[in-house]
Amino acid sequence: MKIQAPKGTRDILPSEIHRWQYVSRVFAGLCDSFGYKEIRIPVFEYTELFQRGVGDTTDIVQKEMYTFDDKGGRSVTLRPEGTAGVVRSYIENGMYSLPQPIKLYYDITAYRYENVQKGRYREFHQFGVEAFGAAGSEIDVEVISLLHMFFEKLRLKQTGLNINSIGCPACRKAYHEKLKDFFRPHLSELCNDCRNRFDKNPLRIIDCKNEECRKFIDGAPLLLDNLCDECRNHFEGLRSGLDNLGINYAIDPKIVRGLDYYTRTVFEFVSENGGSQGTICGGGRYDGLVEECGGPSVPGIGFALGVERLLMELDIQGVAIEEPPAPDIYIATMGQRAVDLAMQMVYKLRGHGVQAETDLMGRSLKAQMKYADKKRFSYTIAIGDDEIEAGKGVLKDMRTGDQKDVSLDSIVDRLKNQVNQAK
Ligand code: ATP
Ligand code: MG
Repeated sequence: MKIQAPKGTRDILPSEIHRWQYVSRVFAGLCDSFGYKEIRIPVFEYTELFQRGVGDTTDIVQKEMYTFDDKGGRSVTLRPEGTAGVVRSYIENGMYSLPQPIKLYYDITAYRYENVQKGRYREFHQFGVEAFGAAGSEIDVEVISLLHMFFEKLRLKQTGLNINSIGCPACRKAYHEKLKDFFRPHLSELCNDCRNRFDKNPLRIIDCKNEECRKFIDGAPLLLDNLCDECRNHFEGLRSGLDNLGINYAIDPKIVRGLDYYTRTVFEFVSENGGSQGTICGGGRYDGLVEECGGPSVPGIGFALGVERLLMELDIQGVAIEEPPAPDIYIATMGQRAVDLAMQMVYKLRGHGVQAETDLMGRSLKAQMKYADKKRFSYTIAIGDDEIEAGKGVLKDMRTGDQKDVSLDSIVDRLKNQVNQAK
């Protein structure tokens, strides 16, 4: 029986790993500059964390979670996103009693039972940040500016920033009534999901992708026009903060994160190329979430970025990601004495950060040289009894074809210096 990878999962192969490592490295480096520390959270959590932390009425919780009972009969779920786990950890580890803000980032896999298509998988990768403890709009600006700079560093273009405010529970309450009044006459024409949302969380109707529903949504009153003074000021603060850093944005009053504990700022980075999988990144403020998950009342803001979609977009835009450099030196061998010496030499070279290889396949000299050529080693040297007797061999620069007599004793120092200078 041939076993295949489960639907919606993908191997990241050695031939493409440099692209993943590159974006992870740039992201981690930037988070470091911005003062965000990495946090690693479990792949699975107790199911109720996501029911509360992501929200019972969301598609993620209602349709997409990988949930199962473990052998002890506890319901656990593979993380469908990172925020809930990070919030749980913030509370569980008492991070609220440390100096605030607490600024964290993560680089994780996530799991959702999705309708698999391009840019939509069942196991996928997210970069994210979460910042706790600061209520003002400055930290919203900081988080968005981190993303903006990330895209700049990656040379990603054609990706627009859309922002919105979804207010606080106070201004949302009055707005919900307005919204219900607006949708009530059309209730029978809305989809099943939206009829459910009407009672539980009418704001989420605005987010419906159903064609029929969209017809009505276009004329619906907007939360942005119904914010309380404090929320309006916060949004103005966000806008002037982004202007201050020269970060362009558009206001999209239709972005919603329709849970009670999400508040005020919401934003997305959307590609011009991606169609319905065009949202590379989504984020927002969640001032009620820590409390909802059993902690003190602490404000927070974060985002999650889909790494598959980011790499897809880099591809579409033809942004080249540097291939890993060619390996440094291949030591070809003839005879057991040469094998023993070469094993010592590559061991030493590797200790100095030089990528050195020797034959492990018992190949003929000719086959070894062919292998070294195929693998694009920068240098080769062949050693056998004659070279060992003479204490020297011919070092060949594979790019220029130059050949040089060198003493075997000097190889390690020579390569070590050469490679370190190049780096
Ligand atoms: P979508 O509307 O595309 O389903 P979402 O609102 O469910 O996205 P979030 O929960 O905000 O997405 O996750 C943040 C980011 O993670 C998304 O913007 C996207 O780039 C990525 N993402 C979400 N689901 C998937 C998936 N199944 N496969 C690959 N990437 C995903
Ligand atoms: Mg989704």
